[in-house]
Amino acid sequence: MVLAGTLIDGTDRDPSSSAALVIRNGRIWQVASQPQIRPDPTHQTIIDVSHCVVLPGLIDSHCHLFHIGRQYSAPVVSFVAQAVANAALWLDTGTTTVRDVSTRANLDLGLRDAINAGLVRGPRMFCSGSGIASTGGGPLGEEPLRFVLEVTGADEARRAARQQLRAGVDFIKLFATAGLTEGAHPQLTVEEMAAAVDEAHKAGKHAAGHGFFTEGIRNALQAGVDTIEHGSYLDEETVAMMSARDVVLVPTLSILHTMVERGAEWGRPARMIENARQARAAARASVRRAREAGVRIAAGTDPPYRDTVAMECAALVEAGLTPAEAVIAATRRGAEILGRTGDLGTLEPGRRADLIAVAGDPLDDIRALERVELVMKDGVVCGPRARLAEGDA
Ligand SMILES: [Zn+2]
Repeated sequence: MVLAGTLIDGTDRDPSSSAALVIRNGRIWQVASQPQIRPDPTHQTIIDVSHCVVLPGLIDSHCHLFHIGRQYSAPVVSFVAQAVANAALWLDTGTTTVRDVSTRANLDLGLRDAINAGLVRGPRMFCSGSGIASTGGGPLGEEPLRFVLEVTGADEARRAARQQLRAGVDFIKLFATAGLTEGAHPQLTVEEMAAAVDEAHKAGKHAAGHGFFTEGIRNALQAGVDTIEHGSYLDEETVAMMSARDVVLVPTLSILHTMVERGAEWGRPARMIENARQARAAARASVRRAREAGVRIAAGTDPPYRDTVAMECAALVEAGLTPAEAVIAATRRGAEILGRTGDLGTLEPGRRADLIAVAGDPLDDIRALERVELVMKDGVVCGPRARLAEGDA
């Protein structure tokens, strides 16, 4: 049983004070106010975080666990070792689920399975495996740094999607444009993306459309993607399309901010920093426009520079979301994208017991999400590290 000072349950309900969550077999069994619950000390471990605000475990809707620290070119063993360390790091920030949106050679699928098997401490992963890009397209980099499958034509796109689904991906990632630095032109065509989206949907999975720039975003929307990743340059038309088709926006604002503020210190080229500066201003305006049009917005970190979900939530609030909306962006929205609202994203009976306790009220100060005192996944206390050292799990 978890005793919470305040409970924000991830639904649209108001926060409740002095709540208790009874957990059985890794799931929420009962949520009630503390006086209504009679604890049975012989059968229940009581985790008292009544000095904290408890909320659903954070969901990072645009993560790359392999790319935190930006070790793209490392030999495979160190690349994987870094990802294992990153998985623990992300869990310690209160992120209990990540949507991992492409890395090289489908390595993310192996990490996902190792975490599920209990071999590695980390968040629950939903993975796209390598993304699909136009021949020569997608983010820059030569083999073995490439983390895309290259296709030309709808048949090849369909084949690549089928291969990825067969390999066990949870969704398909499509590069409608390149990164921020490689030019604003569209890449995969509507026909190519539509073929891949069709395969994903037939298999009951969703399709993510990576697009920074307007024309590529429009192509991805016409092809029927379920999310737009980044979406920095949305215009009235693309926002209206997203609203009409109920497509979720994952704006990844924080990384743009970090690139502008710290890019020079990290030796990033001046052109990249300037592109990020322009994109940051455009992306904030896009988020405001999308919010006003009722487009659902989810928090994603795109974390090569270690931007956390808490930092992304702060950036979303700066762009005009209320703190309550930012919390929903970092919890329930992720579950909606993944089609897992029966399991994840809220603290209601029947859901997995993924929760965090933070010092301070994120609805007053969103930065409270950075002060994580407890992480629970599937009903087991699994972070942060200092908490594990207490041995109170
Ligand atoms: Zn990304």
